[in-house]
Amino acid sequence: MSRPTAIVLGGGLAGIAAAVRLASAGVAVTLVETRQRLGGRATSFVDPTTGQVLDNCQHVLLGCCTNLLDLYARLGVAQCIAWQKSIYFATPVDEPRTQWVIDTLQADDLPAPLHLSASLLAFQGLKPGEKIALARAMLAMMRIGRTGRAGYHGLTFARFLDDQGQPRSLVEKFWAPVVVGAVNETVERMPADYAMQVFQEGMLAHQEAWLMGLASVPLVKLYDPAEKVITAAGGQVLLSTSVQGFSTGADGTRVTGLQIDGGRELHAEVCLSALPFDRVDKLLTPAMRAADARLARLGELTVSPIIGIHLFFSCPEGRPVMSLPHVALTCSPLHWVFNKSMETGDGGVTMQHLHGVISAAHDLVNQPAPAIIALALAEITRVFPRATAAKLHHARVIKEKRATFSARPGIAALRPPQSPGPNGVRNLYLAGDWTATGWPATMEGATRSGYLAAAAALAHLGLPPGDPVPDLLASAAYRLIAGQ
Ligand SMILES: Cc1cc2nc3c(=O)[nH]c(=O)nc-3n(C[C@H](O)[C@H](O)[C@H](O)COP(=O)(O)OP(=O)(O)OC[C@H]3O[C@@H](n4cnc5c(N)ncnc54)[C@H](O)[C@@H]3O)c2cc1C
Repeated sequence: MSRPTAIVLGGGLAGIAAAVRLASAGVAVTLVETRQRLGGRATSFVDPTTGQVLDNCQHVLLGCCTNLLDLYARLGVAQCIAWQKSIYFATPVDEPRTQWVIDTLQADDLPAPLHLSASLLAFQGLKPGEKIALARAMLAMMRIGRTGRAGYHGLTFARFLDDQGQPRSLVEKFWAPVVVGAVNETVERMPADYAMQVFQEGMLAHQEAWLMGLASVPLVKLYDPAEKVITAAGGQVLLSTSVQGFSTGADGTRVTGLQIDGGRELHAEVCLSALPFDRVDKLLTPAMRAADARLARLGELTVSPIIGIHLFFSCPEGRPVMSLPHVALTCSPLHWVFNKSMETGDGGVTMQHLHGVISAAHDLVNQPAPAIIALALAEITRVFPRATAAKLHHARVIKEKRATFSARPGIAALRPPQSPGPNGVRNLYLAGDWTATGWPATMEGATRSGYLAAAAALAHLGLPPGDPVPDLLASAAYRLIAGQ
C-alpha cells in the first residue's frame, strides 16, 4: 500500500519537528532545506579561523519547553542537554559599576511558586524595597493567570511594570535580564502578556519549569538523527536545495506542486511550510495570497536582532577569566556570558572560550565587530577583573539581524494559525516560530508550531493526529494562590 505523502519546506526546528511527527505517523516526507545542514537559526557553523564548530549563538531552553524536550527524546538526544540548577546574576552595587555581587537563583523543596523565594530573598543585588515590589508584581501576574494575560496584549511590559509600581532599578536588575533574552525584545517594546508568560509558566508554576537547559554538543549535532526517522518512513531529506515557488490551481486554493532548484517540481498530498515569514511572503503567488487570510499580513511582521560574541582567552597561571558556568549581567548592555569551555594546555595556561549574548540588539547591531568585541570585553572585565590579565587571542561576532520576529503589542493579530480556514489554501499548513503558537519566538515555539501543523496535516490525510504534548501541570499551591 502506498504511503501518504507530504513535503516540508525548511529544515529549522519547526520543519524538523513537523517532519519527524509526520514520519512517525507513517507519512513519506520530503524535507527540503536550502542549507547544507538542518537546524536553521538554532545551528552551528565552522569558524574559518580555527576550524572549530561553534553555535551561531548560545541557545537556552527551560524545563517548561515540553514540546522541544519531546522532540529531543524522539531524536534520542535528550541526554545532550545539561540542566543548570543554579542561575547566576551579576549586579553592580555602586553607580560607576565598579563593585559587583553575584547572586544565585536556586530552588529549594518548597512547592512552586515558592521554590525560588528563599534564594531571591537572599539576593544581595536587590534592596529590601525592591524585593517587596518584586513579590507584589509576581503575585499580580499569578492572579492575572494564563487566560487573563491576553487582556494585557495591548500594553508594553514596561507600562505594566510601571502600573505595578516597579522601580526602574528593579527593571534593570531583574525584570529585563530575565525577560529580554526570552522574548528578544526590550521591555519598552514587548507586549505585557508575552513577558507574563515567561514568569507564569517559565518560573512560577512548576518546580522544574525554570531549570535552564544548554546543549552539551554543538546544536547541529542534535538534528543528525532526524534524517534516519524520515527515511525509515520512506521519506527523504533534500539538503542544499531551495524552494523556488508554489504551483497551484488557478484559484490558488490548492498547492499542486513545489518548484525547487534545477527546474524540478515535487508533488505531495500536503505541503507544510516551515520557512521564515519573509521567505513565505516572497514565494506566494498572488492567487494564494488572495485566497488565504493567513497569508495577507505577513509583510507587517518586523524583526529583532541578536548578537553572539565568541571570545577565546589564554589565561596565565591557569586562572580562567570566569569560573561560573554562565552569568546574567544586569544593568549592562551585554546580557549573558556563557562559559563554553576551559582547557589547560602546556605551561599551565588555561584556554577559555566565553560566549556573550546581546538580545534585542537594535542599537548595537550596526556597530562594527571590533566595537562590539571591545564593549563585551569591557563589560566582562568590569565583573571579572581577571580578564585584564588574560589575553584575548581570537574573537568572532555573529550578528543575526533577523534573529526573531519583533514582539510588539498587537503582534498576535499578525501570527497566522497553522491550518487553513474554510476558504484558505486547503493543503497548505504553516509552521515556524512566527506562527500562532502562544509562545514567543523560541525553539519551543518553533517545535510547537511544527507539531501543530503536523497534527493538522495528519488529520487532512485521514490519519490520527496524535495527542498534543502536555504542558507542565501547575502545582496545587500555584493554582491556589493564582485562584485557578
Ligand atoms: C542568535 C539567536 C539566538 C537565539 N537564542 C535562542 C534561545 O536562547 N532560546 C530559544 O529558545 N530560541 C532562541 N532563538 C530563536 C530560535 O533559534 C528560533 O525561534 C528557532 O530556531 C526558529 O526555528 P524555525 O524552524 O521556526 O525557523 P528557522 O530556524 O529559520 O528555519 C527555517 C529554515 O528554512 C530554510 N529556508 C529558508 N528559505 C528556504 C528555501 N527557499 N528553501 C528551502 N529552505 C529554506 C532556512 O535555511 C531554515 O533552515 C535564537 C535565535 C537566534 C537567531
